[in-house]
Amino acid sequence: MKKYLNHLIILLLSFTFWSCQAEVRRPEVQIIPQPASMTNMEGTFAISSGTKILINSDSPEMHKVTANLCRYLENFYEIKNKITFSGASEKNSIFIKLNTRLSISKEAYNLTVSPKGIMLEAPSSSGLFYGIQTLLQLMPPIKQKLSEVVLPAVEIKDTPRFAWRGLHLDVGRHFMPKEFILKYLDYMALHKFNTFHWHLTEDQGWRVEIKKYAKLTEIGSIRKETLVGHYGSKSYDGTPVGGFYTQEDIKEVVAYAADRFITVVPEIEMPGHSLGALAAYPELGCTGGPYEVATTWGVFDDVYCAGKEETYAFLQDVLTELIPLFPGEYFHIGGDECPKTRWQKCPICKQKMKDEGLRSEHELQSYFVQRMEKFLNENGKKLIGWDEILEGGLAPNAAVMSWRGEQGGIAAAKQHHNVVMTPGDYCYLDHYQADPKTEPLAIGGFLSLKKVYSYEPVPSSLTEDESKYVLGAQGNVWTEYMKSPEQVEYMVYPRAAALAEVVWSPKGPKDFDNFKSRLVKLTKLYDLLGINYCKAEFK
Ligand SMILES: [Zn+2]
Repeated sequence: MKKYLNHLIILLLSFTFWSCQAEVRRPEVQIIPQPASMTNMEGTFAISSGTKILINSDSPEMHKVTANLCRYLENFYEIKNKITFSGASEKNSIFIKLNTRLSISKEAYNLTVSPKGIMLEAPSSSGLFYGIQTLLQLMPPIKQKLSEVVLPAVEIKDTPRFAWRGLHLDVGRHFMPKEFILKYLDYMALHKFNTFHWHLTEDQGWRVEIKKYAKLTEIGSIRKETLVGHYGSKSYDGTPVGGFYTQEDIKEVVAYAADRFITVVPEIEMPGHSLGALAAYPELGCTGGPYEVATTWGVFDDVYCAGKEETYAFLQDVLTELIPLFPGEYFHIGGDECPKTRWQKCPICKQKMKDEGLRSEHELQSYFVQRMEKFLNENGKKLIGWDEILEGGLAPNAAVMSWRGEQGGIAAAKQHHNVVMTPGDYCYLDHYQADPKTEPLAIGGFLSLKKVYSYEPVPSSLTEDESKYVLGAQGNVWTEYMKSPEQVEYMVYPRAAALAEVVWSPKGPKDFDNFKSRLVKLTKLYDLLGINYCKAEFK
């Protein structure tokens, strides 16, 4: 009897142990951005080197998309899998199925992980790409050799809320090397962002090669020194800052982005923020210069002369070289912060206003933007600009990026123009994210992770019809106080993760604590990837 009891105890203990094991074995599903619909299911599926990766289309694009999954399994767990063409799912397989007849949106996907295998289905390769991003987040955030990777069983039906899920980067104030831009795109893809707004020219530096105007980079890309400390400081560092991208660099970045389903939207600033160009070609300013590449921040009175035909010819030449490099729909022309001080006194600007029947300098700016829009439209591009392009009348087909709050976006949507929301209070990732006393120097402001997370891109004052013009939202990264890639990463992450959820996940009640608990897992992946994120929320 005693022996029997012993057996019983051992049996009970084993059962308890087994149950605990089973519980430990099913990892929690923690995905950012939160999928549109998700059902946890019983059990797990283990990916091993014996798991077949099946694709139902043998196209190069399909191989490229699937390679992301294989690369990850190999890099993180040393598990190698073969990609095989197959029309149907098999036992112990990951079936990646392109199904063009699936009636869900282009970027949507359905992902099922069951004890039998994994099935990912989407109507386009971008949907499959996002499904794979989700699949990667179901895996443990560790980097070590494993014989199998255990995934929780789950059924996900996912689709993005907005078509424009953007991150911006200013490389004018501080040039960022191409290698970092590629990393920036990798991190964007991880968060399912699909638009990279590349701010390429500034008062403090022109950063893109234009073959017809070599001085733009020879002279315009280099400033002799930089202000030390905050605006208003009298101290300069005496160190020249330069750097620019060749057109070959641009092609490489654009192709790299396209492989990650990210559209690159270039920005060439006009008519303001143009001292980089004016330093190289002073004849394009109202006074004729001389000008120098700015060494401090802010807004400068010297801008392109809007009266001279040479200005339009120059900018059209610049756009002519750049348009073929950027396959996306939109081209950003800036349009913000353009003082009218010089135009008010310039005889050529005044003559232009007279000739064109323009009643104010705002109308002169509107004329300027409309000419650029006409040129862009004739060359197959749509114009987008900062919300100042509303002043003096919006160009007929222009889209507006609303940065001075939401009013510009609201006004444009009410006029049935497309809008991207980037209000400073919620989307400016250059603002402080924690106590300035303990943080590296930043431009100012305060934007916590929680506040980014709370953002609702569609203003309540828009009707349902008007709200269709809100394409999405974007985080802006101005680099006056970000001298290095590490500092950019610090300012962008993890706030961009919160923004990713704002633009991807469905509208609805938001649970910041739940987001934060999911973020803990994602930051472990950040650690593995070497992202220098801000840990203020994780102390
Ligand atoms: Zn002028």
